[in-house]
Amino acid sequence: MSLEKKMPVIFVGHGSPMNAIEDNIFNSGWKQLGGELVKPKAILCISAHWVTDSTRITAMQFPKTIHDFYGFTDELYSREYHCPGAPELAKLTKELTTVTKSELDYKWGLDHGAWSVLLPMYPNADVPVYQLSLNQNMTPKQHYELGKELVSLRNQGVLIIGSGNIVHNLRMMNSRNEVYDWANEFDTHVKSAIDKADHQSIIGYESLGVMSKYSVPTSEHFLPLLYVMSLVGEGESIEYFNEGFDYGSISMRSVVFGK
Ligand code: ZN
Repeated sequence: MSLEKKMPVIFVGHGSPMNAIEDNIFNSGWKQLGGELVKPKAILCISAHWVTDSTRITAMQFPKTIHDFYGFTDELYSREYHCPGAPELAKLTKELTTVTKSELDYKWGLDHGAWSVLLPMYPNADVPVYQLSLNQNMTPKQHYELGKELVSLRNQGVLIIGSGNIVHNLRMMNSRNEVYDWANEFDTHVKSAIDKADHQSIIGYESLGVMSKYSVPTSEHFLPLLYVMSLVGEGESIEYFNEGFDYGSISMRSVVFGK
């Protein structure tokens, strides 16, 4: 039995890949949080940008930096995040997933859902990082249940980060950052469900009507939140370290539990 302190669990709204290197409030929020937390033994990231047909866990010794975006600056393409992987923890994580089977993966690496946030959060890249994919054949409830199986990792020094966006509608983006009513409404509803520990409402987001249809046109940016919620224990502290919208249709709301 490990006597280590339980690590916090985090949902990060990552938004534009440029947040990795731009000096803005979101990037500052990540920097600040990284400085405040106890240094983890490893980080497990569940990113919106790794969607697969089965549940996969990266297990390579040195994950490569994946530039999985188009039309950004050369400076962003030249950035790399050279952290070590966590092969032993990947194997342990695979053993924990008993209901939904998972597989070890040696091909992926770190997509921008992971490294764009970790670059400001842990700039020295000295914490091992591994990723868990989103199995697109699973229901929201199954994602939530899978998350629950990972809870013991929190007692072993693993910082689990879900990286997505609560509201993520790229087609409706506007450069004036005029926030849509449906976006505000959905973001507020989800925040209130987080505050009340109303996990059922978050799992059942698809039944929330028009606001959820526009806010979550595809599920991948929302699903990481289900993993995070499944890992939160009763009475744990809740702190929103980033809030607000980018381009009017991307909620940057980010929250740390059990800090
Ligand atoms: Zn994204």
